[in-house]
Amino acid sequence: MIQERISVACQKSGRAKEDVTVIGITKYVDSATAQCLVEAGCRDLGESRPQSLWEKQAALAAAEGSPNDTIRWHFIGHLQRNKSLKTIANLALLHSLDSTRLAEQVHRDALSLGITIQALVEVNVSDEPNKTGILADQLPLILESLSSLKNISICGLMGMAGLETKDPRSDFAKLRKLREETLSQFGSRFAMDHLSMGMSGDFEAAIEEGSTMVRIGSLLFELSGS
Ligand SMILES: *Cc1c(COP(=O)(O)O)cnc(C)c1O
Repeated sequence: MIQERISVACQKSGRAKEDVTVIGITKYVDSATAQCLVEAGCRDLGESRPQSLWEKQAALAAAEGSPNDTIRWHFIGHLQRNKSLKTIANLALLHSLDSTRLAEQVHRDALSLGITIQALVEVNVSDEPNKTGILADQLPLILESLSSLKNISICGLMGMAGLETKDPRSDFAKLRKLREETLSQFGSRFAMDHLSMGMSGDFEAAIEEGSTMVRIGSLLFELSGS
């Protein structure tokens, strides 16, 4: 059902379905339910709290017959610096880089693990004060400081539509424009291939504005709410 809706949104905007990855957000469910999602073919899973990420990673790694090495884990919530090491250790993508200080810590941890971590910069596009992410006008500054951190590979931006925003599309369009501006300002210094935007309630609008990763939780598990 979700796949069909994604196809329609891709058709409407002239995009290829393969360009949009569904990340199953498992924060509302237990490890057994997350495992079912993997068995149903969803290989990208996301969590917003470090503790829950670590627990599910361990549980799914231990699950019998689990294709765990093919699961790509995403972290989408606010990351405290003291939880960075364990969180990035087995991560496909960190969506929520939201300060230079966090970036410096993540870089130290990536160095000590001997890895390069893929990350997105989270932008507060709606400008709502209680939202996470950096403000749009700080993006060039943070990218400037990130360009010397060799073990962090920036591959795009992440954002959420504001609760007060009447049409989520306008916030998604802002993120898309920021990506374009970044590309023209920094050229090939950052890959900027990805826009992580769109959730259960607004993923079609996000796809029509260029999203490459939709983060879907409640709709997958048919929970009411969003
Ligand atoms: C929970 C969460 C989602 C998924 O939200 P749903 O509305 O349940 O699909 C997406 N992104 C972030 C950052 C989240 O915290």
